[in-house]
Amino acid sequence: MAYEIKIEKTKSPKQKPDQANLGFGKYFTDHMFIMDYTEGQGWHDPRIVPYGPLELDPSTMIFHYGQAVFEGLKAYKAKDGRILLFRPDKNMERINISNDRLCIPPIDVDFGVQAVKTLVSLDRDWIPTAPGTSLYIRPFIIATDPYLGVRPSSTYKFIIILSPSGAYYESGINPVKIYVENYYARAVKGGTGYAKTPGNYAASLKAQDIAHEKGYAQVLWLDGVEKKYIEEVGSMNVFFKIGDEVVTPSLDGSILAGITRDSVIQLLKSWDVKVSERKISIQELYDAHAKGTLVEAFGTGTAAVISPVGELNWNDKAITINDGKIGDLSHKLYDTITGIQNGVIEDTLGWTVEVK
Ligand SMILES: *Cc1c(COP(=O)(O)O)cnc(C)c1O
Repeated sequence: MAYEIKIEKTKSPKQKPDQANLGFGKYFTDHMFIMDYTEGQGWHDPRIVPYGPLELDPSTMIFHYGQAVFEGLKAYKAKDGRILLFRPDKNMERINISNDRLCIPPIDVDFGVQAVKTLVSLDRDWIPTAPGTSLYIRPFIIATDPYLGVRPSSTYKFIIILSPSGAYYESGINPVKIYVENYYARAVKGGTGYAKTPGNYAASLKAQDIAHEKGYAQVLWLDGVEKKYIEEVGSMNVFFKIGDEVVTPSLDGSILAGITRDSVIQLLKSWDVKVSERKISIQELYDAHAKGTLVEAFGTGTAAVISPVGELNWNDKAITINDGKIGDLSHKLYDTITGIQNGVIEDTLGWTVEVK
């Protein structure tokens, strides 16, 4: 698919936000990428236009039945000035996995990466440079038929927006307290758990609210059928170090296949650390804790990279992991992945892609 991306530059560039107070997802750059899909014609008219509101009919299908998918990745400014993306091809492969589940037509993976590169290159002055900051990239696809019947749309928009974002950890990496959710489910096998689709996040808010009220940062999701097996932490994949072995739930249809998760598994293997993808029950974790063999726990995702877990609370039984401090392996993984992303550690695995 060789398309030309038409570029219409803004005539009124915005003032850039203060790098010290970026937070997450609050500011947007000067431009956005849009491409349309029409049945019979395929994806067409890729263009970059000034960032601004979309005009959509109130009957547009996305507003009613949630037929949509999204992705999340980041661009980093290296010390030497290079702009680096981390495994962007994986995000575009994954959006097609989500597309398939949501009956949305696939996009061309290489073209998707090219669209990201073209937009980031144009808005390169928006990439923050303070330590830990990055330019968050949000590609998404929405169903756009003006129609209230339930069926797949025949038209779509693929859009990419960019948001300069602050450091996830502003005062050092602090392990988080996690509430094990025993009633609500995030996903079930056969559902949409493996797709990055808005409904999954809407459905997770209730449990998240309850966890917050109880003073916990995130929810640990158990499997939707037996409420026995570990699935994910908030919107992160999760790993545990039990004795000398690192374990993470296997991808069985209800878990999102994180790119950070895959990177962690590859790194651990390259360090000769034993890592297994398998079913892990919450009881197994509590038993390991009682025996003193549950030594580390951490979530993985693009936003935090590595998020250590310092406490779990299941059925009002709280356990503390590694004295509530970040573990050695979590720390090494964090330093290695962020080092590769920021171009300070040699990228022997070929994960970074430069934006010219
Ligand atoms: C995006 C996401 C992740 C993490 O994926 P990364 O590719 O590592 O950012 C994990 N779980 C859920 C539910 C997600 O939406």
